[in-house]
Formats: sequence, structure tokens, C-alpha cells
Amino acid sequence: MAAVGANSQLNPLENAERQFEEAAARLKLEGGVKEMLKRPRRATIQSLPVMMDDGTIKVFTGYRVQHSIARGPAKGGIRFHQDVTLEEVEALASWMTWKCAVADIPFGGGKGGIKVDPRGLSMSELERLTRRYAADLSDLFGPERDVPAPDVNTGEREMAWFVDTYSMHERRTELAVVTGKPIEIGGSQGRREATGRGVMICVEQMCKHLNVPLKGAKVVVQGFGNVGGVAADLLAECGAKIVAASDVSGAIHNPDGLDVKALLEFVKDHKGVLGFPGGKALTTSIIEYDCDILVPAALENQITSENAPNVKAKIVAEGANGPTTPDADKILEAKGIWVIPDILCNSGGVTVSYFEWVQNRMGFYWPETEVNSRLRQYMEKAFLDVLQTGVKEKASLRMAAYMVAIKRVLKVHQLRGMYA
Ligand code: NAD
Repeated sequence: MAAVGANSQLNPLENAERQFEEAAARLKLEGGVKEMLKRPRRATIQSLPVMMDDGTIKVFTGYRVQHSIARGPAKGGIRFHQDVTLEEVEALASWMTWKCAVADIPFGGGKGGIKVDPRGLSMSELERLTRRYAADLSDLFGPERDVPAPDVNTGEREMAWFVDTYSMHERRTELAVVTGKPIEIGGSQGRREATGRGVMICVEQMCKHLNVPLKGAKVVVQGFGNVGGVAADLLAECGAKIVAASDVSGAIHNPDGLDVKALLEFVKDHKGVLGFPGGKALTTSIIEYDCDILVPAALENQITSENAPNVKAKIVAEGANGPTTPDADKILEAKGIWVIPDILCNSGGVTVSYFEWVQNRMGFYWPETEVNSRLRQYMEKAFLDVLQTGVKEKASLRMAAYMVAIKRVLKVHQLRGMYA
């Protein structure tokens, strides 16, 4: 992973702002309105002192950015990663605003992060760090204010600690304060698979639009984690052939197709794809591997102006947030590659998070079939809204998605009016 900041092309905030500016120009937004929509509403930096197992105290840095609460509570995950910066969190928070608006769910956008390599902490140290973060900002969070969720290196376990900490402060159990919880404490059926399922639905709709068969299509997945692993599994179930996959351990390939279910089992046991007996180690760039569909599902800035000219795929389905730099976007567009943008392609996760929040507030839970069929309705509608705008405005799907989203958020601002 390249270091953010070394090259301005890799600064996610600059990238997010460039994408916004381009859409804003197309929508002819004027100065003050544009600034209001662009800037985060609130950003906090926290010092988080944590008692380590050996009795020493270590101070970590945490962030929470609420980009927008115009359409509803801020919504967005919490990332634990050693490279987290305020700028990265700001970019991710703004993408959440646009993503929730594209998905047409009643949330604004937020994001959080802690600068930590969780592999260096014991489970009890991680628990204390998560609880400290949740407690420190407990007046900021809440079902009507700001609803976090998992992101890179956080999952159900951290969300359960979060609910418990928040509930102790509130003196009652409040499940709707975060989503992505274990099923036993208010998690939704289908949430774990939702982002990957949404990626699969988008790819399916894209193939339908382009009139190309998904059955037999060659798919490459970069980042065989929650999003990438599920997307690979569901795309394979649709008849696609997963020819290469990667994660932090390395990359593997098999031109005849990897056995995805066996690979998922292997990763559970071996903590990585490398060494999987059904494939060979891949030493060349996975982004440039020969395929029809490329699913970047790891972190930001993986498709850059350096490797974009060599992308062979006809469709790029962005499972990750911000995997393509704006410069690379232009190159892919000129090559006639269809990029299904992150704010549409990976919106399945936040859509089912919304379902989870709804179920928590109703106290009534849906079976997985109902969750999946509602998710399909939302994804197909979002895909169609973006596609139609793209065709009408002669814009890429990314620009179209931004235009759909910005218009929806702007409309709410106009209806609510300006206070002060
Ligand atoms: P995860 O931690 O489960 O998986 C990430 C995967 O990427 C892991 O397999 C990791 O080994 C791999 N990875 C990390 N660096 C890599 C590199 N340099 N090359 C190849 N692989 C690498 O996380 P996730 O939840 O699957 O999230 C992945 C991406 O999807 C992130 O960008 C996240 O923001 C985005 N996303 C996640 C969700 C969700 O619901 N989980 C929703 C929307 C977007």
C-alpha cells in the first residue's frame, strides 16, 4: 500500500474534493451553496489514553467526522488502521453522505477512525481502546445523531463493545446506536454479506445493461476480506469465474477459476489467500490481470495513473471506498471501461445498516430473505437512477452518482431553509 501524502494523487481528501467539484460544476452550484455541501459539519480529534496489559499507558489518536446530518443522523464506520489520518476520515465521511443519498436512505454521512495497528494489541487492550473511544464521544453518538458501524479492522465484536459502553452511559440498552452488531444483540440478518451482495447486484445490472453474460465472465478480486470474499462467492454462484484474488498475504490466480468456497475456508484457517492449493502465487500486479470484471475491495488508491493504462477489465466494480484516483478515472473512461463507483457499488452495506437500525427501533426482526429482497430493490433502484442520469447527462457513472446524490442533499437543504 502506497503512503498517503507522498503523492497528491493518493490524498483521499483531495480526490474526494476533486470528484465533488467536478459534479458541482456540472450542476452549476454557486460558491456558498457549494462550500456548505462540501465541508464537513463537524470534525473531532481525540486523545485516547489506554491502560495496556503491562500496566503502562499508551495514548492513541481517534477521529470522528460528521460530514452531513441534513438528511438524517450521520452514518459511517469506524476504522482501526495505523495509517488513519483526519484527512482520510474526512474523505470517507463525505463519501458516506453521497453514498446514503445515492442509496436514498435517510442518513447523512460520518466516519471515524483510530490510528492503531490492531495486530499489535491484545483483545483486552482493543476492548479498552474501543470503549474509551465510545465513551469519550458518547454525547455525539446516538440513534438520532450519529450511528457508527464497522469498517476496516473492526467488526461485530467492536460493535458489541460499543453498544455496551454507550448503553451503560445511557442507563438503558440502546441497540440502534451502531449497526453491524452480532445477530444476538440486534444485528440484522444479511448485514455481514450486504456489501458484497450489493457489489454482485451492481455487476449483474451492469452486465444486463451492456448485454454481456455474467456467466463465464472472468473476475479478479483485490482484497479477499468481508466485501471481496462475499462478492467473489456470490459472483461465482452467478456463474462467473474468479481467476485471481489477493489480500495482505499476497495474491493467487488460476485461469480456470478458483474454488471460492474452498478459498474462503482456507482463508479462515490460514489468515490469507497465499498458499491456497487451488491456485498459484501471482507475482505481477493483480489490478492489471487479464479479466472482464475487476473488483477492488481492499483500500483506497489502488488504481492510479500508473496502472490504469494496463487495466484489462471492461467493468470495474468498486467494492472498496476510493480505490480509483481521479486521474486513473479519466484513463479508464477514455479506455471505455465502465466504473461502477464506490458510492453506488458498495452501498449495500449501509443500506442493510439502515434496515438494522429500523429493526432495532421497531423491535421487530426480518428473516434474511426479506432483508435480501429489500436490499435488491434499493440497489436496483439506485443503479437505475445513476445509469439514467449518466445517459441523460452524458456523464460517467461516477459523475452521475455524485449528481444524483448532491441534488438529493441540496433539495433537503432548500426545503429546510437556512437557520441563522
Ligand atoms: P476487511 O478488513 O474485511 O477486508 C479488507 C481486505 O483487504 C483484507 O482481506 C486485507 O487483507 C486486504 N488488503 C489490505 N491491504 C491490501 C493490499 N494492499 N492488497 C491486497 N489486499 C489488501 O475489510 P472490508 O470490510 O472488506 O472493507 C474493504 C473495503 O470496503 C474498505 O475500503 C472499506 O472501507 C470498504 N467498505 C466496506 C463495507 C463493509 O460493509 N464492510 C462497506 C462499504 C465499503
